[in-house]
Amino acid sequence: MSIFKNIWLQKYGWLSFVSIGLLGSLGLYISGFVLASEIAVITICLIGTLPEAADIVRDIIHRQFGVDIIALVAVLASLVLREYAAAGVILLMFTGGRALEEYAKSRAQKELSDLLKRKPKLAHIKRGSEFVDIAATKVRPGDNLLIKPGETVPVDATILKEHSSFDESAITGESLPQAKSPGQEIVSGSINQDAAVIVKALRTTGQSQYEQIIELVKAAASSKSPLVRLADRYSVPFTIIAFGLAGLAWLASGNAVNALAVLVVATPCPLLIATPVAIVSGMSRAAHAGIIIKDGMSLERLAMLQILAFDKTGTLTQNLPTIDRITAHNVSKEELLQLVASIETGSTHTLAKTIVNKAHASKVRLLPVHEIHEEVGFGISAMVGKNRMLVGKYEYLINHGIKLPSSEGQDQTAVFVARGQTYIGSITFIDPIRNDSKETLQRLKRLGIKQTLMLTGDKAEVAKKIAHQLGISDVHAGLLPQDKLKIIQKHRHAGETIGMVGDGVNDAPVLAAADVGIALGAKGSTAASESADVVIMLNNFTRVAAAIAIAKRSLKIAKQSIFVGIGLSFGLMIFAALGKIPPLYGALLQEVVDVAVIVNALRALIPHKEIL
Ligand code: ADP
Ligand code: MG
Repeated sequence: MSIFKNIWLQKYGWLSFVSIGLLGSLGLYISGFVLASEIAVITICLIGTLPEAADIVRDIIHRQFGVDIIALVAVLASLVLREYAAAGVILLMFTGGRALEEYAKSRAQKELSDLLKRKPKLAHIKRGSEFVDIAATKVRPGDNLLIKPGETVPVDATILKEHSSFDESAITGESLPQAKSPGQEIVSGSINQDAAVIVKALRTTGQSQYEQIIELVKAAASSKSPLVRLADRYSVPFTIIAFGLAGLAWLASGNAVNALAVLVVATPCPLLIATPVAIVSGMSRAAHAGIIIKDGMSLERLAMLQILAFDKTGTLTQNLPTIDRITAHNVSKEELLQLVASIETGSTHTLAKTIVNKAHASKVRLLPVHEIHEEVGFGISAMVGKNRMLVGKYEYLINHGIKLPSSEGQDQTAVFVARGQTYIGSITFIDPIRNDSKETLQRLKRLGIKQTLMLTGDKAEVAKKIAHQLGISDVHAGLLPQDKLKIIQKHRHAGETIGMVGDGVNDAPVLAAADVGIALGAKGSTAASESADVVIMLNNFTRVAAAIAIAKRSLKIAKQSIFVGIGLSFGLMIFAALGKIPPLYGALLQEVVDVAVIVNALRALIPHKEIL
């Protein structure tokens, strides 16, 4: 209803009107003005059901058929049968329910408004020898900024001077402040705790972490009312049964009041409100832990996952691998690192990042490269000076007709390097599993994941070793991104619900193909946040299990609300049909059921010991 401009009025206006009006009527009745009070109740009921009636007409136009029609009929029938008190109570219950629904929605939006409220507007930028204030949106990469204690970091940046610690909880859900020193990156949206630092901006506000999270949460908050699907499944048969039973009661007893009583206790608030409340609360709870579930549908699927597939590098193994050995033929090791690092600046691959970091740390000067061409998950080539260079998998070089020894770096994650047609060496990596991987995989089993898969582009030897350590049941190695896609699709075609966990940078299409794509530690990568259904801000593997636990719990509570609510309604309906419950008492009883079920649904907001 957009009659009211004012937000509060829009949300609670009808409820205030209805409750004040009904109180007034009650006052009239008590004072002995019975006729006046009856006229007042009729007027209020007719006006009060208007939004309801408008919604039902709209639903019918859209060929939807909802349970609200029972409430409308119950109110109108009560008036016809002169059960004015019952009419008033049902109306109150229904408008109250709608207000509660608005409240639940605004709770979900609260996450967003909190984020927006904390968005920094100003940045202190260095101009000459002093710092001046400019709009945060005007900051460009490379600008030097001052960030004082207590201030929110406006853009992603690298620290140049001073040490401090940063509270990143708004971004990652991690409550412990993180110590940062010169050379380290800080994320926008984190709060400087201790000392003023001077930083160099890495990105504009729009490209920074904080803005991306706001976009994600915005999209989640405005996603369509979550459990419509689940609730819809029950609402049509429920409505038909309610009307059928009311008709039977009327026929059998010859008393229309019995039929009315059936409709009164049938008004199923749980379906309409409790279920979405449970789901939205779950999403809100997850967002607190830095887990952004994009919509209610994703939450439902997350709760129903049977199979979970994992990318290896950077997902099961630690965030960044380290270089183990550089083997060089006909060039020096330094030269090999220089050549490879220069090319890898053009790639977002985890191994590329490790190599570039190593070159920076060893103060290697990078060379100009051009014509960079990457085959995702396979290798990368570029022109350096007059030579075309190849860096990638063993097979990548073989495919380009390079001859290379089969003995080198075969039992480790490795990249191989050729200059022109000549093999010039390899770099091997130590890629240890995350400390928390094994424990999390066990927890996932307890959460009902019956099969785990590893999907990796790496060699079978390496993959099997890691899978064995972790207890992963199936390993698929040597895959290209399109192979990973096929495996996901095969499971989906078999009717299984499959999730994919990846860093999301080079796995974006695979994440999109799964029933639930989970992007882990989605630092600054828009591709991941767009293709994934669940984005976990903190690069912490345990959060995958937490996401599933939260989803399962919310869905369980939602279903509880549906079944307990409907079960109790059915019980009451039978008694009502037999004429044991007068409409007024029926309306009050139904109210008790509703409140109980909605309070139960709100439990999904409360942190649970199983979760983190
Ligand atoms: P995972 O599936 O484990 O994340 P990928 O499919 O991303 O692994 O990569 C598989 C292999 O392909 C790597 O181990 C590496 O040898 C090679 N590779 C992929 N991308 C690059 C790159 N940018 N530079 C060098 N090698 C690469
Ligand atoms: Mg990968």
